[in-house]
Amino acid sequence: MRVVALIPAAGRGRRMGSEKPKALLTLGGIPLLIHTLQKFEACPKVSAVLPLVPEGQVSFWEEEIFRRAELKKVSQILAGGPERQDSVYLGLMAIEKKADWVIIHDGARPFVSPELIARTLEETLRHKAVVVALPAGETIKEVSPEREIVRTMDRRHLWVIQTPQSFKYDLITQAHKQAKEEGFYATDDASLVERLGIAVKVIEGSRFNLKITTPEDLVLGEAIWKYLKGSCGFKKIGTNNL
Ligand code: C5P
Repeated sequence: MRVVALIPAAGRGRRMGSEKPKALLTLGGIPLLIHTLQKFEACPKVSAVLPLVPEGQVSFWEEEIFRRAELKKVSQILAGGPERQDSVYLGLMAIEKKADWVIIHDGARPFVSPELIARTLEETLRHKAVVVALPAGETIKEVSPEREIVRTMDRRHLWVIQTPQSFKYDLITQAHKQAKEEGFYATDDASLVERLGIAVKVIEGSRFNLKITTPEDLVLGEAIWKYLKGSCGFKKIGTNNL
């Protein structure tokens, strides 16, 4: 069984308000993308890792990644596209038929644990399409462009969707191709499978699996990094479920 991890990291990080692309921001002196790649390297179920980086930065990242002896699973680095979905599509096309399963994970989520990656893949053998998520911990309301509440959702049925998201290769490729043909865009990969009428399984993830999007996230990220430092398998308290 060959599993390829696609890591979209081609965002420009506009919400970070920094000139630097997000993947280049550091935690403990190490770029965010490297932190993320290390987690996939450490998961034995993953055979190869393919990062997608901003156009014009491929050679920078080749140097940064290939000089790190510990990142043996990365043999190719590609330029992403204008939207996240385009980046993933380019990755899927590059893999061609060389994968049975694909696990897709945001480069901007550096605290995913190798254990959570393994658990996602195990569930994918049973369900073909699996996403990691958290039950909504806060009340969620639909709000109009005029900033008035339209309605309140029933929180008991709401989950906040994260990555990793893992799929049978043929299924996710078909879903992406169809979305592309129809000009349909979504903010995650599972949405493209859902519209084919195929069930997607949800498994519970971790609050530490934060997506670093804003400067505030970077502050939280520093704190999480310090807390988890030195425990790649995340053996610390309360982390069995990571
Ligand atoms: O934009 P968003 O925060 O949803 O991005 C999630 C992930 O997708 C990030 O790791 C980002 O770098 C990546 N991305 C990408 N190509 C784009 C836009 C975002 O690979 N064109």
